[in-house]
Amino acid sequence: MRTTQWADVAAKIAKTGADTELSVPASRLTTYRIGGAVALVVSITKVEQALALHTCISDEFDVVVVGNGSNILISDDGFDGVAVVLQLGDDDTTMSVVESTENTALLDARANIRLPLLARRSAALGWHGLEWAVGVPGSLGGAVRMNAGGHGSDMEKSLFDAELINLRSGHTARVAKQNLGFRFRGSAITDEMCVIGARCQVTRGNAEQSQNEIAEIVSWRRDNQPGGQNAGSVFVNPAQTARSAGALIDEVGLRGKRHGSAEISQKHANFIQADENAMAADVVALMCEAQDTVFDRTGVMMHSEVRLLGFTQEIAHRFLDKHHSHIELARAQETLKSLL
Ligand SMILES: Cc1cc2nc3c(=O)[nH]c(=O)nc-3n(C[C@H](O)[C@H](O)[C@H](O)COP(=O)(O)OP(=O)(O)OC[C@H]3O[C@@H](n4cnc5c(N)ncnc54)[C@H](O)[C@@H]3O)c2cc1C
Repeated sequence: MRTTQWADVAAKIAKTGADTELSVPASRLTTYRIGGAVALVVSITKVEQALALHTCISDEFDVVVVGNGSNILISDDGFDGVAVVLQLGDDDTTMSVVESTENTALLDARANIRLPLLARRSAALGWHGLEWAVGVPGSLGGAVRMNAGGHGSDMEKSLFDAELINLRSGHTARVAKQNLGFRFRGSAITDEMCVIGARCQVTRGNAEQSQNEIAEIVSWRRDNQPGGQNAGSVFVNPAQTARSAGALIDEVGLRGKRHGSAEISQKHANFIQADENAMAADVVALMCEAQDTVFDRTGVMMHSEVRLLGFTQEIAHRFLDKHHSHIELARAQETLKSLL
């Protein structure tokens, strides 16, 4: 769409009370800190603004929710759509303990709370079960959509239910985790569905033990994962083999491989690091090389864990999960859609 048309959409959305900003550099929205501009960013500070959004958005343009952007790569040409960013509550009001019995509780949190903060707060209060989440630098909403996980657990295990809004219809529902269509690093949640809050289940633990566990996870991450500009693991661990995506990339000799301003990490072969002011095209070129080389030498087809925004259909399709049953996913999406 043309800039003037985006300005009209922004003006309409601004009437709901949400903040709008045109042509926002992707570097401000993702941990890769590279890529072109996002046509329109809408910052939601009140749930009512998200509920009203459907009156302002049309089927003519794409809408996605951006959490902490720790699993997104935006193309150098940018993303000609709307990125919805949640800024609900503040640090002190984004989490509360509900339905607490002697040994169990539900932690109710806004979707924009960062997982490491949720993990640390839960641990400090003596609740056990969310320690794993300290190593995932995403928001709770992004973690639900991605079924984020690590250190023997994941959102599917930790979640009780999630509150969603369909941004295109304004319908809202609290959905039990069984209806979210979770699979390894994915769910049935689609772009029009915005997680605005979630309840995680935890058990009575010991604050000191949980904090020690958290310290061990943080130190393991420092030793085994690179810092800098990246989006964590690029490829999902393939279902066809017990070998991880990182092990496969390493096996075919691509650890440390550079392409222009990006590099397959020396420290963890499933991470692709971007230099400052890098090109997203260089990251994608390395993804293509890793996918092709691993397939040619091992017969394993890897698909992307990282969400690609603003790329061509060809690139988007290349990295889609072709192994997960489309019928199964479509069914899960239908079930979820019927609730919203
Ligand atoms: C250093 C590093 C380490 C990482 N380690 C791990 C790990 O151990 N395990 C793991 O699973 N992941 C890991 N990741 C990836 C990433 O942190 C997770 O996928 C995380 O859950 C993404 O959350 P986010 O808020 O950043 O989502 P984003 O990157 O902003 O978005 C990811 C997807 O979720 C959608 N989304 C975001 N918020 C919402 C919402 N509120 N409602 C609906 N949809 C939404 C987006 O549209 C997009 O499709 C790592 C990333 C980095 C940079």
